[in-house]
Amino acid sequence: MTKLFADKLRKVEPYVPGEQSKNKNIIKLNANENPYPPSPKAMEAIKNITDLNKYPNSSASDLVEALEKYYGVEKGEVFVGNGSDDVIALCYLAFFNSQKPILFPDITYSFYPVWCGLFNVPYKTKAVTKDFLIDPKDYYEENGGVILPNPNAPTGISEGKDFIKDILDHNKDSIVIIDEAYVDFGGYSSVELIKEYDNLVVTQTFSKSRSLAGLRIGTAIANKDLISLLNAVKNCYNSYTLDSVAIAAGKAAVEDDTYFKDCLKKVINTRERFSKDLKALGFTVYPSHSNFVFATRDDIKAKDLFEALKKDDIFIRYFNLPRIDNHLRITIGTDEEMDILTEHIKKYIKNM
Ligand code: PMP
Repeated sequence: MTKLFADKLRKVEPYVPGEQSKNKNIIKLNANENPYPPSPKAMEAIKNITDLNKYPNSSASDLVEALEKYYGVEKGEVFVGNGSDDVIALCYLAFFNSQKPILFPDITYSFYPVWCGLFNVPYKTKAVTKDFLIDPKDYYEENGGVILPNPNAPTGISEGKDFIKDILDHNKDSIVIIDEAYVDFGGYSSVELIKEYDNLVVTQTFSKSRSLAGLRIGTAIANKDLISLLNAVKNCYNSYTLDSVAIAAGKAAVEDDTYFKDCLKKVINTRERFSKDLKALGFTVYPSHSNFVFATRDDIKAKDLFEALKKDDIFIRYFNLPRIDNHLRITIGTDEEMDILTEHIKKYIKNM
């Protein structure tokens, strides 16, 4: 029966996250999680929490102060939220409030159009080149804002300072969000540019490089006026986006730089080794500055390989989307996990 109130309901097309499994024995390389545990200091901080009967500090000031120190920015230039998805959603609400379309690449993080749908933000996509490169000139036209991941997802391709400055210089009357979810794995971070550009917002996450996807912490770094607006928008919606556990463990993780750098080194080394192995098997592998690689081989149907691996309890990511439906995105796990995956791919090729 058609409900009489149906036309009053919001119509949404949700984002589909990488599949999670109850089976702990799978090799899970489909959600760009870190294979290493969080800093032991973060785990210790969680154990020491005693005041869960009280609300958390609504500005998460312990964590914000640790991040201001880490980024070398001034007080008031850092915002935190419940994962960078929450931070970016709040950025849409705060900064993309124009009738003009916002711009982002056609091959990019598939959440960007979803937020446009939810918040009624008009958008236009700009086609990346056949090698999946973003052309800065595509972002010179009038717009309601720009959002780009650097490195891009799901390609892992990263751009440098000149590229970012070019886009910022041509968008002085719009906000440009640079989503640096994967930057710690070797990309260029534009945090240093927030002093020079009052239209720049950089977002980062603890989910990848800091092994804390389960805790949900994201950050935005920008000038004080923009951060103040983000806080105001957050306080119109939910005062306590970060809980006490996330604040305490996040602070401890930021302060444990040695552990952070050790984990990054391991993931980067494994990525370079695995990329070589995949190339030796005839795959085109895009140069990645993230904790995943994006690969394709013309004579292998990506979807079939994805499904065959899944049957063997190895989960990678396949996107049934135009232009990338014969590519696979593979998260970098431990050396051992990547070796098992390589052996399975070899076996698959042998039996083709
Ligand atoms: N940006 C990009 C490009 C991503 O791939 C992800 C992870 N899905 C996010 C943002 C959000 O990550 P989180 O909410 O875990 O911080």
